[in-house]
Amino acid sequence: MAPQFSAPIGTRDVLAPESARWSALAASFHNQFSSAGYGLVLTPIFEDLNVFLRVGEHTEIVTKEMYDFEDKGGRRIALRPENTASVVRAFVEHRPLTPWKALYLGPQFRYEKPQAGRLRQFHQVGAEVLGTMDPDADVEIISLLDGFYRSLGLRRVRLMVNTLGDAGDRPRYLEVLSAHFTANLDVLTEQSRATLARNPLRVLDSKRPQERDLIEAAPKLVDFVSDEAAAHFERVQTGLTRIGVTFELAPRLVRGLDYYTRTTFEFAADALDSAQNAVGGGGRYDGLAEEFGGPPTPSIGFAAGVERILMACDAEGVFAVPSATVDVFVVDTTGGQEALTLTHELRAAGLRVDRAFDARSMKSQMKSADRSGASIAVLIGTDELAAGNVTLRPLRGGEQITVPRTQIVPEIRKFL
Ligand code: AMP
Repeated sequence: MAPQFSAPIGTRDVLAPESARWSALAASFHNQFSSAGYGLVLTPIFEDLNVFLRVGEHTEIVTKEMYDFEDKGGRRIALRPENTASVVRAFVEHRPLTPWKALYLGPQFRYEKPQAGRLRQFHQVGAEVLGTMDPDADVEIISLLDGFYRSLGLRRVRLMVNTLGDAGDRPRYLEVLSAHFTANLDVLTEQSRATLARNPLRVLDSKRPQERDLIEAAPKLVDFVSDEAAAHFERVQTGLTRIGVTFELAPRLVRGLDYYTRTTFEFAADALDSAQNAVGGGGRYDGLAEEFGGPPTPSIGFAAGVERILMACDAEGVFAVPSATVDVFVVDTTGGQEALTLTHELRAAGLRVDRAFDARSMKSQMKSADRSGASIAVLIGTDELAAGNVTLRPLRGGEQITVPRTQIVPEIRKFL
């Protein structure tokens, strides 16, 4: 029979053994950041629509791509398209001590045109430091993310950094930038002309080849930033250099949401196709907490896309699917009751154990044992049952032995 349903467009099911990589990636991310003093924060997957309008009224993520709806109580709700807005909302609501160092992982939702590496439900890992202006916090968070990619085995990941200056520096720059593009409207595509009217900064994001030269020739934001913002950026660069994190300056790197200030950064995976090679990015958002009614709280954070990171790992041939999850497979040809108790005992002794169901034939159970990836099968047949023994059969070469059932745990351990 043909299935009647499939996963919605732009979403994916992740099954074992592939899902084991997801757990391993999450564990590795959690370990990297919790070991540096970051604590897990869990926020709802949906929020009041206004939480997201506050962060990106001029951006496509918020204006065009949001999953928003009215709930049964008549509230305007949106599935989160990103996590920083929720984290800042939670910060202002609960006012934890600063600097507040938070890490998160979970699904995000954007109504995009699905393609390889671009999904409607995708997953991000991320971290934020709220309540410090210290450029060392920028260096810390960037270097921890860099270390995370490296811990997965990725080598062809490139860090780009830029500064967006402070909110007050923006209007002057936007004026000259708009003038530059307006003087060359004939070169701009229709999409970019529309973007220009909404948010000139975002025109810099275009990857369309016919606009490349014009964008290259655009005035640079870094030339328009205040002395304080320039000094901050200088400190970030010397800090990164001091601890051996290599980076490139990317004067045209801007980011998708309105709220970014000062340091902005992105990691690109050179093993991926350039249209979808961003594996993570972030920056400072010094004014955002105030937008939510909180105190002045200079902050920095990033989000990194799990699907993209795994694609980059595939492209580099690193971070393979972890091997088998069980060590022992119980094969019972006496009807299944022995498998029930043996499996239970072995698990209670801390071993990783699986078994067959449905009292299948010896041959069929052995096939399952091989497929499980276990290194040893515990066989119990009528002879073993009568004599109070079990047979231990190594599944990757070696002689099988029959041992008293009472000795099973130490005997198994000799094989592992
Ligand atoms: P952003 O929140 O747009 O800065 O995205 C941060 C990271 O999330 C990007 O660098 C990507 O790795 C990932 N990402 C963003 N949008 C998508 C998407 N639609 N599908 C898969 N990954 C995404």
